Amino acid sequence: MQASRLDSFLPVRFRNGTVIKQFSKPCVHCGAMLHARHMHGVARLIDDRLALAATADCPECHRRFGVACVIDHDKRVRRVTVPAWLFSGYLRLLPEQPGEKAARDMALQTVREESPPTPAPAVDYPRADTYVGRYRDLPIPAYIVVDGRQVPFDRVEPQGRIGQGEFLLDGCFVYKPAP
Ligand SMILES: [Zn+2]
Repeated sequence: MQASRLDSFLPVRFRNGTVIKQFSKPCVHCGAMLHARHMHGVARLIDDRLALAATADCPECHRRFGVACVIDHDKRVRRVTVPAWLFSGYLRLLPEQPGEKAARDMALQTVREESPPTPAPAVDYPRADTYVGRYRDLPIPAYIVVDGRQVPFDRVEPQGRIGQGEFLLDGCFVYKPAP
């Protein structure tokens, strides 16, 4: 499997019905928000998790950085601690998983059927080292960083519904800028 633009792998549908249509990550150098179309690499659906390994090209500062993470069916983004190049080599070696193609086909079908409302994209925002509590097995970061500004935790939304101007982390934590 060759490195491709990451948006060519999306959308992906998990067995529980969650659809990942977009993946975003802030540039580690300048903070500009990068989307799947700014990344080249591989994405594989493995055991109901979407594994991503890519090189991101920032359109703002033109620097490159590696992205390696796993998104689960609740849209929780977990960073992978091996270097992106090693992880992508591993992902490329894996044979196609059972259900992987079906998941892609089904996702495409779902997208055609239901347009709005658009689910919040899975974004791996920089997060605080301090926590305000726990929900299920996840610590709740006190704030996330969006465009260089801290946005405080507002509430838990198990279904991941957010309103205008709000941000979703790990599929269930809602962050809202202070008025
Ligand atoms: Zn940048």
